[in-house]
Parts: sequence; C-alpha cells; structure tokens
Amino acid sequence: MPKKIENVGCPYCGVCCDDLVVTVSDDGRHVLEVENACAIGNEIFHHASGDNRIKLPRLRQPDGTYKDISYDEAVDYAAKVLVKAKKPLIYGFGSTNCEGMAAAAKVAEKAGAVLDNCASICHGSSFLAIFDNGYPSCTLGETKNRADVIVYWGSNPAHAHPRHMSRYSIFPRGFFTGKGHKGRKIIVIDPRYTDTARVADIYVQVKQGQDYDLFNAFRTVIHGEDIPDEVAGVKKEQILEVADILKKARFGTIFYGMGLCHSDGRNHNVDIAISMTRDLNDFTKWTIMAMRGHYNIAGPGVVWAWTTGYPYCIDMSKKDHAYMNPGETSSIDLAMRDEVDAFFNIGTDAGAHFPIEAVKHLKKHPWITIDPNICMASEIADLHIPVGIVGVEVPGIVYRMDNVPIQYRQVLNPPEGVISDEELFERIHQRICEIEAEEGITQTGAAAADTQKSIVGE
Ligand code: SF4
Repeated sequence: MPKKIENVGCPYCGVCCDDLVVTVSDDGRHVLEVENACAIGNEIFHHASGDNRIKLPRLRQPDGTYKDISYDEAVDYAAKVLVKAKKPLIYGFGSTNCEGMAAAAKVAEKAGAVLDNCASICHGSSFLAIFDNGYPSCTLGETKNRADVIVYWGSNPAHAHPRHMSRYSIFPRGFFTGKGHKGRKIIVIDPRYTDTARVADIYVQVKQGQDYDLFNAFRTVIHGEDIPDEVAGVKKEQILEVADILKKARFGTIFYGMGLCHSDGRNHNVDIAISMTRDLNDFTKWTIMAMRGHYNIAGPGVVWAWTTGYPYCIDMSKKDHAYMNPGETSSIDLAMRDEVDAFFNIGTDAGAHFPIEAVKHLKKHPWITIDPNICMASEIADLHIPVGIVGVEVPGIVYRMDNVPIQYRQVLNPPEGVISDEELFERIHQRICEIEAEEGITQTGAAAADTQKSIVGE
C-alpha cells in the first residue's frame, strides 16, 4: 500500500521548503506523488526513481570509456590519489548534508587538501563583506511574521527560489502581517524587469554595475543630505520615495542575490548594503539576507567554521594549520594557476561552472566526481562515484539560507548498494589511514604530534 510521508524537505534551493508531502510506492523505491513542491522541487523526487541512475562507480579506461567498478575499488582509488597528491583540491558541497561535509573535512585534513565549497563562485563575496561589516540578519520566519517592507535587490526568486515569495516574503500572512500581500510594500531593484519585478509595488531600474552608487545615494538621503537629480540611472524623486518607505517601515528585509554580489563592486556592494541596513536601524528595524542558491550551501560555511575556523577556501596543505585567503586559496584561482594536483568534485558541477582554462588545468590531474547524477563533471572525470540523494534517499541536517538547521528525511531507499557521501568519505579516510600504515607514512607537523590539535576535530 502506498505510503504518505509528511514534512519532507526539498533538496533543491536555499528556501529549503520542509512542508512537502510525498507518496511513495509500497516497496519504498518509487515516488508516486509530491504535494506542495514547486516544479523544480517536484522533479528532484521523480528523478530519484528514474531509470537513468548510475548505480556503481565508473572508472575511465585508456580508450576513454567508463568501466563499472565496486565501491571498495573506488574507495581504494580515491584514497591512493589523495595519498599521492601534494595539494589536492576538494570542492563543491552545494548538494549534500552536513554529515557528509564533516566527513569530507576529516579527509581533507588527513590528505592535506584545500577544502572549498560553491560559495567560492557565488556568495563568497558576501562572506568577505560580512567579515568586514557584520550581518544584521534575521530568520525567514521573522520576515514572514513581521516584515511590512521587502526589498529584492539583484535577485529574481520567481525563477531561482520559486516558493520564497509565497512562503516567507510577499504573500504569506504572519503573526503581525495578517493582511499578507495587502499589508506589505515590495520593492525590486534590478537592471532587468524580471518576473519578480512584475509583482512588485515599486520597480527601480538601476544601471548595470552601478548598485554601489545607488546605495550611496540612499544612504545620503537617509541621513538627510541632498543628492544629484539622477544617480545610477534612477531619478532623484524615486530615490526619495523609496528611502522614505524604507525609513517608515515597521520591519524590513533586504534579500540580495548574485546580481549584487557578482556585478561590479562585488563584496563592496554587499558591504555597503549592510551599512545601509545598519543606517536604517537608527530609525526602525531592518535586516538583510543573502539569497543562497543550493539547499545546503549555507551548510559548509557553518560546519567548517566550527571545525576549521573558516567557512571556505580552506588550505590545509601544511597539515598543522588551516589557512584561508580567497584569491589565493579559492578553487578557481588555484586551478587557473595549476597549483593543485588532484581534484574532487562533490555535489556540484565544476565542469559546467568553472572557466574552461581552470577545467583544462584540473583535467591534467586525477579528477574524481562524487554525485548521484550525470553532469559535465561526471562525464569528464577519471572516476565517477554515485551516492544517495540527500533529502530523498539519505536523511541529514541542512542549513537553510537564513542559517536555520533543518533535519531532512529519507523518503526512498537508495538504489541497491549505493552509499551516502558520509559513508564514502568515512571509508576513504579509513583507507588513507590503512595505506599510510602499510607504507609507513607518518604525518609531519604539529597535527600528527597531538591529536588534540586536529584542525577539524572529531
Ligand atoms: S522553492 Fe526551492 S526548496 Fe521550495 S520546493 Fe521549490 S525548489 Fe524546492
């Protein structure tokens, strides 16, 4: 008899909807129906029971074809690559659970690797601004229950986070926002008239690459000073109108996306956005939040900050300490300079997202992709290891875009024999220890001398 499972989390975008109802077949192998998810979330669950899943690791052969191998053989291959490499890069983690991220950090420390996540190519610039200027943020629940003014700046949730507006920002009725959309003002600031802009009360068309100038104009007006007749393509009257709404809000949230942190100004745009949020708090209550993309891309920042002290771009190649310097220890920069000699791509697609020159350098060395799916990174890898899909076949903790941890459930059994990222990394760690013992390799440096000083902890 089919089983209905409630309160299921969606393993796709950073909204982390946890109100899905999934009906599965009585053998626990097929999803029959998904309720409450958007079209993208729905597809993830149906994909899991599709016929095109890879069920065994695949090793590239000299003639370019793939040959199925066992998990034991794949673990042995991966461990040997890490033992041999002087500076391996372990990158990705947008789509796995925190348990897998913690196990990977242990492997990275053991192997003296650089450990990095997709923030390196998305909201890493936000991290830099937050280090500089703090993060006056809130939870999505607070926005839903309290916010009467919402700003989307350089983000288009109608496409990238389809249920963000209906669950948390524009449409829902909360404790103090009982009128829902009718009680809220929505402002969209973007060079493009997006589908999100269509539902806004006010659309501000900033000139591309001039966000910083517009923030400066808002800050100037908020402080009661005068500005020119036009700034960043926006008329003074509209700047005054918006600034007035911002100051008079009871509670406001600025949701910003890659349009802000990846256009001209990058971390400086986020820095000044935070400064403007702080300015507004002289008058009322304002908060700011990054629109994180993958469902658990906030996870590695939290897990690795606990365990290594840094959220991304963590160089542990010296083995006795962790070190972070984006631009030097960030994945693309390392790859462009051809400084790493093995590459692990986990739960992401560096083949599709990295510049071609970076991919070409990485391809000179062993490339291992760990992913449930076929993607560009799996198709150019020397070894592709499939794993269970977190949130569908593997339970675990994920961090929503507002850094709230959520326990995700398992709704299906993984294909027979397919293991989780966590188990895979634990087995690779174990195999590295065995190889080092067999070959009489000892760690050098303080980390080996005193396990208490382990970078990632246990
Ligand atoms: S909005 Fe995001 S988390 Fe929610 S159902 Fe859609 S894809 Fe999944």
